[in-house]
Amino acid sequence: MSCCEEYIPLMSDYIEGDLTPEEKKVIDEHFHDCEKCRNFFYSFKNSIQLIEYLEINSCPQEVTDRLNKILAEKRKDKQTKTKLS
Ligand SMILES: [Zn+2]
Repeated sequence: MSCCEEYIPLMSDYIEGDLTPEEKKVIDEHFHDCEKCRNFFYSFKNSIQLIEYLEINSCPQEVTDRLNKILAEKRKDKQTKTKLS
């Protein structure tokens, strides 16, 4: 069973609140059963919140750039994995 890949692209929408209540429910239920996705989601969410936090607290541009790069890499990685599956 490798259904997990299907949920990963939905996670950023989930964080941004772009999902329908039905989609949200499906993801919530999957997270409940799947530790792997839950962990991925939390680290994904934390990195986004970290950037928001840093932006609010006006940290040096260099640090934000680096974090954005990490996030972009993560997204790229995600896309590659989705393509391969
Ligand atoms: Zn999963």
